[in-house]
Amino acid sequence: MSKVYANWNITLDTECPECEECFDLIEQDDDFWTDAKHSACEHDTPSSQNVDVECPQCGHQFKVDFCY
Ligand SMILES: [Zn+2]
Repeated sequence: MSKVYANWNITLDTECPECEECFDLIEQDDDFWTDAKHSACEHDTPSSQNVDVECPQCGHQFKVDFCY
């Protein structure tokens, strides 16, 4: 019998305060995990607060705090 796997699917959703576009920070940033700046579900830590984000829709730059 072959093994059956279940895949975690983590998203980090935010909304642009400028144009209200909703997007996933992980999907938008190809290097999110490679850069390893954050661990999965990280929140309430210095490195997961005031994180610079750029809206893929309008280019607005803002800061977010990761929450879980
Ligand atoms: Zn925007």
